[in-house]
Amino acid sequence: MTKELLVEVDQIYNLACPASPVHYQYNPVKTMKTSVLGAINMLGLAKRVKARILQASTSEVYGDPNIHPQPETYWGNVNPIGIRSCYDEGKRAAETLFFDYHRQNGIDIKVIRIFNTYGPYMNPNDGRVVSNFIMQALKGEDITIYGDGTQTRSFCYVDDLVEGMIRMMNSRDDFTGPVNLGNPGEFTMLELANKVLALTGSKSKIVYRPLPQDDPTQRKPEIALVKKELDWEPVVDLDEGLKRTIPYFERFCK
Ligand code: UDP
Repeated sequence: MTKELLVEVDQIYNLACPASPVHYQYNPVKTMKTSVLGAINMLGLAKRVKARILQASTSEVYGDPNIHPQPETYWGNVNPIGIRSCYDEGKRAAETLFFDYHRQNGIDIKVIRIFNTYGPYMNPNDGRVVSNFIMQALKGEDITIYGDGTQTRSFCYVDDLVEGMIRMMNSRDDFTGPVNLGNPGEFTMLELANKVLALTGSKSKIVYRPLPQDDPTQRKPEIALVKKELDWEPVVDLDEGLKRTIPYFERFCK
């Protein structure tokens, strides 16, 4: 992503960079380079081969939101110098580049803002909350809630996300987004922990760990725009998605 890529293509999905806080904070400079230089390289490629290009942006552009739920028109509440900033500001700068290339060079862009997504084939060491809780429950280890567990997230099952992403890529020419893709069901981390415990039948204990800096207190997508433009809404709720995800993680616990 941070290097030039010489290929001939019709469509580009730019999904970089790592999305787990643990992984994107491991090398924050590289995270920012991946988002910014990666966007410039991919937009340059789109320009040369006249490809349509989709940017996987993120609900993190809304930061710790003080408007709830978050519509696409909300500009966000982002700390520019915190430990999450390499990701948030990198993705925000990438959105800026997409819209500037669109206005300046007529590039055919599509921007989606992805909210928390989970499902089979996640790395068991991903570090995000769904995989952590499932792995901990299956191994009988303590379930680590950061903070008091009252912060909320809205979790989208991967198949729903992929469907929305492909619909956006193939949407009408004059619809650029940004458009939210996420499941509006909203849960506290304590509710999630209890769901995982119930569905796995685990006897793991819940323990509390310090809340990381700038951890958003609430997050929920407003999805009216995507419903109207792409006729899309998630069909897999959290219970069903967890039931489909837990068996995948069992293979790492034998
Ligand atoms: N979290 C938690 N325990 C964990 C991992 C995460 O309580 O083992 C919390 C985290 O503090 C955040 C929420 O779960 O409030 C979602 O975190 P995640 O890293 O999955 O994604 P984020 O939405 O913060 O990027």
